Amino acid sequence: MEITGAIGALSSVISLAKTALDARDDAKAQAAVADAMTRLIDLSMSALTLVDLLASLQRANSELEKELHETKLKAQERERYTLAEASPGVYAYRSNDTQQDGTPPHYLCQPCYDKGEKVVLRRQDLHMWGWTMVCPTSDKHSFPALEKP
Ligand SMILES: [Zn+2]
Repeated sequence: MEITGAIGALSSVISLAKTALDARDDAKAQAAVADAMTRLIDLSMSALTLVDLLASLQRANSELEKELHETKLKAQERERYTLAEASPGVYAYRSNDTQQDGTPPHYLCQPCYDKGEKVVLRRQDLHMWGWTMVCPTSDKHSFPALEKP
């Protein structure tokens, strides 16, 4: 029963109580009181259902607030990086220069970050063959860098 149904049932009980008070016939008064009691029991059950529904909605709201907070944190984190062409045809997320927390400039692995994992690429010196950017989680994500990153 929804709120409007509960209010309607309460109004009905009040109406039955008035009928019982106005009745001069004792049998009519007893019937009205019995009917009012039945409706009060129904109303109590509806109130319990509404309390249970309210608790369920409060839990769902709490979970959604937590999810929203986590989404906002991820969005803030995402703003700290820009997708950049780290090598011709190869992309990585470059840290923005405006980071205020003292974090040194770095690249994040694009395939890993798009899956939700924040993996910093490591530079590997290949001596006379240049530099390679290595993803610690997968060799498939590693790529040669034309210049020292
Ligand atoms: Zn990776």
